[in-house]
Amino acid sequence: MIIIMQPGVSDDDIARVIERLEERGYGHHISRGVERTVIGAVGAPEGEKQQVAEQLSRLPMVERVVPILKPYKLVSREYQPEPVTVKVGPAQFGGKQVSVIAGPCAVESEEQLMEAAQAVKAAGATALRGGAYKPRTSPYSFQGLGEAGLELLAQARDLTALPIVSEVMDPRQVEVMAGWVDALQIGTRNMQNYDLLREVGQVGMPVVLKRGFAATIQEWLRAAEYIAASGNLDIILCERGIRTFETETRFTLDLGGMAAAKQETYLPIIVDPSHSMGIHRLVGPMALAAVAAGADGLMIEVHPHPDQALSDGPQSLTPTSFEKLMQQVRTVALAVGREI
Ligand code: PEP
Ligand code: MN
Repeated sequence: MIIIMQPGVSDDDIARVIERLEERGYGHHISRGVERTVIGAVGAPEGEKQQVAEQLSRLPMVERVVPILKPYKLVSREYQPEPVTVKVGPAQFGGKQVSVIAGPCAVESEEQLMEAAQAVKAAGATALRGGAYKPRTSPYSFQGLGEAGLELLAQARDLTALPIVSEVMDPRQVEVMAGWVDALQIGTRNMQNYDLLREVGQVGMPVVLKRGFAATIQEWLRAAEYIAASGNLDIILCERGIRTFETETRFTLDLGGMAAAKQETYLPIIVDPSHSMGIHRLVGPMALAAVAAGADGLMIEVHPHPDQALSDGPQSLTPTSFEKLMQQVRTVALAVGREI
């Protein structure tokens, strides 16, 4: 950490800070500028840095303390400088690969899911999505088919050989779901459900961690750190839009945040233009922008009949428009040196 002292600090004050550092096992380096004295502290025992930084920042002669080591150590590029790939069944996320997870918002029926699964497979998707447990804003909205939905997802995997991604909402569902799907999705509303994060960290299965719609990049990465610290580094981050003052789209897709997060972490990051835009006509432009900006993949909602969808019909693409979009995604991906 770096300790920035107040202007005009005395030698005694500096000595007191150094004494505190030595007591806690830190080495130090003092740099005296014209306006400020700065103390660099290194080599403290792991696990105590946050506490020491907080304590030092309360000293009157200290202006502020800047940590060097990221709080999300295991998922940061300090820990692993090069991007990694995460496999979901045969699908690969990260590295040069751009992968697309597509399918309906919710599993509604056998007919709906099989039709969607075959359509997204034919268009080039590498994984199938579909919610069996739906986090709906209203308790009166369709809540998903539950385990019957998971069975249908497994059936769709048998039919198409696409791996399955589905949302888990409760720590008690994790074990059962892990028996049916290939990757567990944590939705935006649960990004900071720490018990759930710990639970999926222990299950030994890839996790798609969506960004909370009111979460900063730092909070998102710390949520990922919970999963990593519980023993699971197979994490795919998913930017899905954040809440801003803008109401024209359902959420505001933060592609700048996605690009910034990619500098901080080596984990693959995909983008969900469906939930962020909320309007099917706007899904395509943002999907292309995301891939151009370096996203490692996309998550897109596709429904065979969006006008009959039980959830998120307005943002769902038809199989035909998804197929057209995939051709454009391919062109953009290749243009920016990716494989698809
Ligand atoms: C979903 O993917 O179906 C979903 C509910 O997404 P989010 O958590 O981003 O709203
Ligand atoms: Mn949805």
